[in-house]
Amino acid sequence: MNKTVLITGTSSGFGASAANFFAEKGWNVIATMRDTGKASGLSNSENIFVSQLDVEDTASIHSAIDAGIKRFGKIDVLVNNAGYGLFGIFESASREAIQNQFAVNVFGAMDVTRALLPHFRENKSGVIINVSSGAGVTGFPMASIYNASKFALEGWSEGLRYELHSLGIKIRIIEPGGALKTGFMNRVGGESAGFQPIDDYMPFLGKVNQVFEVLQTNADEDAVDKVVKSIYDAAIDESTRLRYAPTSDIQPILKARRGTSEEEFIEFTDNLFISKIS
Ligand code: NAP
Repeated sequence: MNKTVLITGTSSGFGASAANFFAEKGWNVIATMRDTGKASGLSNSENIFVSQLDVEDTASIHSAIDAGIKRFGKIDVLVNNAGYGLFGIFESASREAIQNQFAVNVFGAMDVTRALLPHFRENKSGVIINVSSGAGVTGFPMASIYNASKFALEGWSEGLRYELHSLGIKIRIIEPGGALKTGFMNRVGGESAGFQPIDDYMPFLGKVNQVFEVLQTNADEDAVDKVVKSIYDAAIDESTRLRYAPTSDIQPILKARRGTSEEEFIEFTDNLFISKIS
């Protein structure tokens, strides 16, 4: 029997590309999105079943899971991909905007996972793949709220891994680099539109924006394909591996974060974001 994956946020970006990739590999795909009118990026494969799921709406989570199991009989893999970035100066962000960031990136993934775990327990197997970010490992200026949400996703995944290991259920974390060519950057501007500018930060912000532009132009041409491939590899990996960092833009930063002392890393990041820009 073909294996089945349920993916959240398949209206665009990694989610849409992953849905098509899994279908090409012969998997059944429950391609979920909050607005099913946005399914045009999905191929016409008969393996793809589109279902409405808003990660902030628990009723829609349960009905998408039930409909997917009814259609394909079983779910083997969950990809918690839905998410967005709230970028800007922390002081400018409203409480509501911050809560919303956590509602989607953290509580959304938790709610979908909790809804699917009884099915995985019954099957004594299952793989949960959480799409985090390099920003889930290290802080970046103007990204502190997004950082907080992805750090939370990573901490939850790491702790949950131990709970699920004894049940035969695996958990994986994917850490793509930044500003890759998906719908992600388009949404960033809209999300931070309500931020009130604070003059004191302006000189720093100008410098940081320059660095982000350079990082964006340095991203791998095939970064989205690499992320999608790593999601697929994580689904079929028999090992106990927890983390995958598929794109070369973030790899040296993650290596420095994990392989050097805190002092050295902070110096490295200060150099990256401040000192080297005139
Ligand atoms: P994207 O093209 O904007 O896709 C994000 C997806 O999440 C869209 O399908 C969006 O649906 C969905 N979504 C947002 N809120 C949702 C909700 N409440 N319920 C259900 N779906 C919701 O961006 P992407 O780059 O593919 O992002 C996918 C994941 O990768 C995110 O978790 C993001 O944080 C992570 N990531 C992205 C990058 C990057 O540079 N692109 C880097 C590192 C990590 P709508 O169309 O309805 O908004």
